[in-house]
Amino acid sequence: MAHYLGLTEADFLKRFTVERGGRIEMKTVNGHCIFYHSEEGCRVHPVKPDRCREWPLHPSILKDPENFEIIRSSCPGFAENLEWEELKKIFIEANHEPLGRDH
Ligand code: SF4
Repeated sequence: MAHYLGLTEADFLKRFTVERGGRIEMKTVNGHCIFYHSEEGCRVHPVKPDRCREWPLHPSILKDPENFEIIRSSCPGFAENLEWEELKKIFIEANHEPLGRDH
């Protein structure tokens, strides 16, 4: 991402990230990611983090039905009547690792 933006890694970290609880996170602006633009969308789309590429199939939706509901209700790509158990079944059948990653 630093290279994409023409910055050194140090400058990128200083300008766009913050450390919380021992983790490096993107800064937020008005409650959303610093790279989100209301008209342009993600301003680092070609190099956005893996976690962003996973959306809306974030691993937490397989671990917690409440997370599933939050994400399902905010993503029009999910069928309105999709149940949590059905989603897990679809993942297993598609040979994904349903709970294998812990981020
Ligand atoms: S896709 Fe990721 S990097 Fe891009 S605006 Fe959203 S949270 Fe930020």
